[in-house]
Amino acid sequence: VFDKEAGLGISRDDLLTKLAETLSPKRFAHVQQVADAAKQLAVHWGYAAVEKAELAGLLHDYAKEASDDVFISLIHKYKLDPDLLDWHNNVWHGVVGIYKIQEDFGITDPELLRAIEIHTVGSSQMGLLDKILYVADYIEAGRRFEGVEAARALAYEDLDAAVAYETVHTVSFLAHQQVRIYPQTILTYNAYVDKLR
Ligand code: GDP
Ligand code: FE
Ligand code: FE
Ligand code: FE
Repeated sequence: VFDKEAGLGISRDDLLTKLAETLSPKRFAHVQQVADAAKQLAVHWGYAAVEKAELAGLLHDYAKEASDDVFISLIHKYKLDPDLLDWHNNVWHGVVGIYKIQEDFGITDPELLRAIEIHTVGSSQMGLLDKILYVADYIEAGRRFEGVEAARALAYEDLDAAVAYETVHTVSFLAHQQVRIYPQTILTYNAYVDKLR
């Protein structure tokens, strides 16, 4: 059914095998837990293509363990914004990672690719699948951090508020780490922060 909903040319079993080969055990467990959370949020929020949500969860961190050279090559190959060269894996694995996912799986579904593209940084205008994946990544069953219970509760009460909550915490975390914040993350913050009120 994956292939019907998202143009994926392989079965679910073959996809899981490929992910298990590509990802560390810890990250393989994470993507399966994100897929479960995304499935549950899809049902709860009436997103009809539940299996696409699940697939988004399974694939979202596919590129996370690729080397920097892989991302730099993809930025050149697809003539992406050269400013991306100033960033790093945390930003690349989604924004650039979708090109590796297209190459390795032949996925073409724009909604699926978009959700994976922005799963780390969000966007000022997020569709339902975008929000589901963004939030599922944050609240999956294996996540342990201060505030995760509040994030989980919000995810089922008010999805926009859950996007806002996560973004506020991410921006705050990054500022405390004294690291650069990707401009699109700030745009997400500005677009969603009022949803908490
Ligand atoms: P993960 O891939 O499941 O670990 O989760 P994410 O893809 O959501 O985030 C990966 C990492 O990127 C996390 O450590 C975030 O704190 C970090 N991150 C998120 N947004 C930004 C940003 O705008 N700038 C930077 N430098 N890091 C970010
Ligand atoms: Fe990620
Ligand atoms: Fe995230
Ligand atoms: Fe993730």
